[in-house]
Amino acid sequence: MKLIAANWKMNKTPQETRDYLEKFLGLMEEVGDDVEVLICPPFTSLCIAKELLDGSKIKLGAQNCHYEQKGAFTGEVSLDMLKELGVSYVIVGHSERRWIFGETDELINKKIIACLEKGIRPILCVGEKIEDREAGLTLKVVESQLKLALSGLEDVSEKIDIAYEPVWAIGSGNPAMPEDAQFVHSFIKELLGKVRVLYGGSVNSKNAGDFLSMPDVDGLLVGSASLDPVSFAQIVKASQR
Ligand code: PEP
Repeated sequence: MKLIAANWKMNKTPQETRDYLEKFLGLMEEVGDDVEVLICPPFTSLCIAKELLDGSKIKLGAQNCHYEQKGAFTGEVSLDMLKELGVSYVIVGHSERRWIFGETDELINKKIIACLEKGIRPILCVGEKIEDREAGLTLKVVESQLKLALSGLEDVSEKIDIAYEPVWAIGSGNPAMPEDAQFVHSFIKELLGKVRVLYGGSVNSKNAGDFLSMPDVDGLLVGSASLDPVSFAQIVKASQR
């Protein structure tokens, strides 16, 4: 089943979350059960989102987690805390976490292992920087990120999702060509087998259908265009055409 996921990043207060979800739930009424829809708000909005999404088909995700269960980790949030708030997915290794907050492949590996142990489905983000792409290193970078993030794990291809997000395409208004995304997605499936691979990077309601028409694009991870309920609903509906 296709997965259409919203990554709100550091946007929306609890009140703004309420306003968004009240509108979005209405827009989802005519959407069938053949697509999974996921909202990943900031931690501070999880509570209100859980309340509003309970009983709906929209799932709730978090944008980050800590790998330890509890303890002296000021400012961090554990998977048990997230689970109690109805979270079933966590985005792990987003390029903003890697490149702004210095997350290493080793840390990402620990988070993936912790998610799997807790029965929370990780969405592992991988993708090359522009200089890698220009040097012809896209597949090398993606392969290395995947191998390191999944190191020590047996076949987990059915328990995780991968998001291919070229760093240069994120928030830039300059998406990859759908054919280029397809090329990398099929490479990821050659490496990992039957895994769901989402594309992310400047997806909007106009280009979503083009990505989803590619045979190995199994869903989308959407940043900016998910912040407006109408635009995100249009992207969800593009998966149904
Ligand atoms: C993202 O942050 O995961 C993302 C894809 O952002 P945007 O859609 O804004 O490029």
